Amino acid sequence: MKRQISLLVERQRLDSEIRRLSFKKKELPDQISRQDEEFQTVSQGVDEVSKAFDVSVKAHRDKESELKDGLDRLRKTKDRLLEVKTNKEYQAMLKEIETVEQKNSAFEDEILTLLEKMDTFKKELRDREKNLDEYRKHYEDEKKKTEEELSSLDREILTCQKDLQGLSSEIERDLAKKYAMIKKRKNGLAVVPIVKGVCTGCHLNIPPQLYNELLKSDQVLSCPYCNRIIYWDEKNSNGA
Ligand SMILES: [Zn+2]
Repeated sequence: MKRQISLLVERQRLDSEIRRLSFKKKELPDQISRQDEEFQTVSQGVDEVSKAFDVSVKAHRDKESELKDGLDRLRKTKDRLLEVKTNKEYQAMLKEIETVEQKNSAFEDEILTLLEKMDTFKKELRDREKNLDEYRKHYEDEKKKTEEELSSLDREILTCQKDLQGLSSEIERDLAKKYAMIKKRKNGLAVVPIVKGVCTGCHLNIPPQLYNELLKSDQVLSCPYCNRIIYWDEKNSNGA
C-alpha cells in the first residue's frame, strides 16, 4: 500500500504541475497581444506625425504656387501701368497693385508659418522614429522571449504527461477511480499531506486517532472533512 500512496502523491504532483504550466501557457498569448498592441500604438504615433508633416509640406507647396501666381500678377499689372492713359485708370491700377501686394504679403506670412510647422513636425518625427527603433528592439526581444517560454512550457508539459503515463498503469484501478473522482470534485486537488496534524486540503485538524493510524498504517486513508486522500508528510512534520 505504501507504494500505492507514493504513486498517488507523485500523480498529484504531476497533475498539479501540468495544471500550473497549462495555466501559464494560456496567459502567454494575451501577453503577446498586449505587446503587439503597445508596439502598434507607438508605431501609429509615428504615422500620425508623418501624415501631419506631409500635409504641411503640401500646404506649403500650394502657398508657394499661389505666391508665384500673385507675383506674376503683380508684374503684369505693373507692366500695364505704363500703358494707362487716364488718371482714373491709373488710380484703379494702383489700387489693384496694392490689393495684390497685400495678398502676396499674406501668402508670405502663411509660408513662414508653414515652414515653422514643417520644421517642428520634422523634429518630432525624427524623435519618434528614433524612439520607435529602440522600442522595436525591445518589442522583438520580449516577443522572442515569450515565444521561447511558450515552447519551453510545451516541452515541460509533454515531459509531465509522459511521466504520468508511465505512472498511471501502476496505480490500482479502484484507487485511480477514487483519485479521479475527488480531483474532479475538489478543483484538481485529490491527494494532500497532513502537516502537524492538519489536513492541508481543508486546513482542519484530523482526529488524533486517524493521525495515529496514518503514522502506523499502510492503508490509503481519507480526510473525514474534505474526503481527500491524505498522507503523512514526514519532511514537514518533524518535531511536531
Ligand atoms: Zn481535509
